[in-house]
Parts: sequence; C-alpha cells; structure tokens
Amino acid sequence: MADARKIPAPIVNVETQAFWNAARERRFVVPTCAACGKPHWYPRAICPFCGSDKIEWRAASGRGRIYSYSVMRRAKEPYAIAYVTLAEGPAMLTNIVDCDFDALKVGQDVRVVFQDTEDGPPVPMFRPA
Ligand SMILES: [Zn+2]
Repeated sequence: MADARKIPAPIVNVETQAFWNAARERRFVVPTCAACGKPHWYPRAICPFCGSDKIEWRAASGRGRIYSYSVMRRAKEPYAIAYVTLAEGPAMLTNIVDCDFDALKVGQDVRVVFQDTEDGPPVPMFRPA
C-alpha cells in the first residue's frame, strides 16, 4: 500500500545520533542501561530508572503491541498515530502504516518498518504483524 504522506526528517541531536545512525542501516535499536539492565524510550543520556550514564544501544526485536491509537482522518493524507509498547518494554509514540485504519485494534501485534523521510534518516514506524 502506497503511503503518499511526506514524512519530515527527524531532528537528530547528541542523545539520538546513535539511534539515527542505526536507522540509516535499517537497524532498530533501543537505549538500554548497562547498570540496571532496563531499556527506555525516548533516548536519554541518563538512565531514567537508576541515573546511570552507562547507556548502550541494543538491537531490539522490532515487535510491539498497540497500546493506544488515533486516526487523523482530517489530514490531507490520513494517518494513524499510536503508542506502541515494544516487546522490550518501553512505549514509543509512532505511526501505524501499511494498514486498514478501520481494522486497527488496541492490543494488536505490530512490527517495525522504516519509512523514508524527505531529507534525513528513515524513521521507525509500525505495521500490523
Ligand atoms: Zn539504569
């Protein structure tokens, strides 16, 4: 299914540089604390659970589940925005693509898919698994 919606380039900063470097290779990584072992999202330089700065980028499964979603039907190209709970634990604000918006359900299994942006690295979105 074609997604004609243009996706603006993400904002890349020091805390997210490693994420976008991996995204350019279509690798989905999640910041994980080497001190307490917990993954978190969004990317931060300091672990939100224990305060350690020992953050590693670990390969994530790319699997998740829709926690909540909303379909923006009034947009020129309608799109679905959603919180997806990753299999690794953290929840991510993202888009659901390549799907029938009317068939989306809370609790539905989804899988990451990288979507090209206008002039930046591809961004991770999700499609039904
Ligand atoms: Zn920690």
